[in-house]
Amino acid sequence: PVTGQAVLEGRDVAVHYGGIKAVDGVDLTLETGRILGILGPNGSGKSTLLAALTRLVPLTRGRLTLDGADYGRTPPSRLAHRGIARTFQTVRLLPDLTVLGNVQLGADLRLGRGARLRELVRRSVPPAVQEAIERTGVGDLLDLRPGELSYGTARKVEIARALAGRPRVLMLDEPTAGMNQPERLEVAGLLRRLRDEGLTQLLVEHDVSMMVDTCDRLLAMNQGRPIAEGAPREVVRDPAVQEAYLGK
Ligand code: ADP
Ligand code: MG
Repeated sequence: PVTGQAVLEGRDVAVHYGGIKAVDGVDLTLETGRILGILGPNGSGKSTLLAALTRLVPLTRGRLTLDGADYGRTPPSRLAHRGIARTFQTVRLLPDLTVLGNVQLGADLRLGRGARLRELVRRSVPPAVQEAIERTGVGDLLDLRPGELSYGTARKVEIARALAGRPRVLMLDEPTAGMNQPERLEVAGLLRRLRDEGLTQLLVEHDVSMMVDTCDRLLAMNQGRPIAEGAPREVVRDPAVQEAYLGK
């Protein structure tokens, strides 16, 4: 696919919880081989937006399309099959599975087979899973369980799990939260390489300099509303964005 083609679009996306307008009227376009960053202070609606885009919360308003086809009613369990993968803000690995088992789960989801636990025990690791393990550098840890991993490493395993289904679109909610600086740089480098190989990404991160270095475009939010969008350096200089962050 040609870089820069619209893959996934959200139009007027809104998620209200009673009177709380967690997300309220966001337009966004994810383009092939590009990283869109979502920037915003705590509580601005970033995670809720990701939940809406991955169908984990119902839309109060708006429209979602993938390759131009509406997916606003597709159940979340079908999204992996359609090539959309995500990671969560907090680690969500299955504690009783090994690292390999957790990564392999991502491939099984893509195939729509669900978790075939017995198969995970067998050591015939498919190429996509091997590749995900190599890309994220967790190959020495395959037999460990999540409880035995450092927090940063567990986060890498989650990225591996998302990659194991060979997604077309990857959404990451604060993937480097809780990581040390070398780990953060490692993950940023990985996301950039994946982008250069054509993977379309949506990235939520607090680290503004990492966002500027990593993203092709930024969308800034405050209180559920989009407040600026465009080239990263311009968005972070935008007075409305400065005010949302610094309260000035
Ligand atoms: P961010 O990820 O930018 O920190 P969130 O999307 O987590 O922001 O939250 C946005 C707003 O929506 C916050 O005010 C939060 O309290 C509220 N919110 C999020 N989830 C729920 C929910 N399940 N029920 C009610 N309010 C929620
Ligand atoms: Mg969040």
